[in-house]
Amino acid sequence: MLDTLTEILNANKTYVESFGEKGKLNSPPQKQMAILTCMDARLDPAKFAGFSEGDVHVIRNAGGRASDDAIRSLVISHKMLGTKFWFVIQHTKCGMQGATNDGIAQLLEESLETIQIDENSALNEKRDSGSAEGYKVDWLPIDNLEESVKNDVFRIRNHPLVSDTISIYGLIYDVESGCLKQVDGAISMAK
Ligand SMILES: [Zn+2]
Repeated sequence: MLDTLTEILNANKTYVESFGEKGKLNSPPQKQMAILTCMDARLDPAKFAGFSEGDVHVIRNAGGRASDDAIRSLVISHKMLGTKFWFVIQHTKCGMQGATNDGIAQLLEESLETIQIDENSALNEKRDSGSAEGYKVDWLPIDNLEESVKNDVFRIRNHPLVSDTISIYGLIYDVESGCLKQVDGAISMAK
């Protein structure tokens, strides 16, 4: 089996062969859109929202949350690169759903190694690693998914560096059907 670096470099060779005119694309997104979504590997925003290279900014983090750093990118996206339509897309069965700040910090305090999860239990492998630094981090866990989308749209809308000429839409992606649906009350149109 190929190692992961070789695998990526081989895939890239194929990509380069059909790169075509993409080298002439401009930096500002053609569709004037930015999507904030979760890093979850099951989500492929280009496919589920139908766009290509050059079309859209995609900002990703755990949960697709409106963290300070996500907002930093959105502000740059508008101010420097002209996006006007922003989408906050969180998803069903997100790993951040049901987590808590203390729960995550406690797991990290016990061990930095990957947790082993099966249907019935979670095993936190204990080695001599572990740090209490996690208690200082707001991990932005998700309690109620729809509320989380609404709160993040609200937070972005009310941020002092966000222009009121931007429209913001909150959606949920269903990982079992591939379907995107709007969240009631999670919309804020441009003035
Ligand atoms: Zn997620």
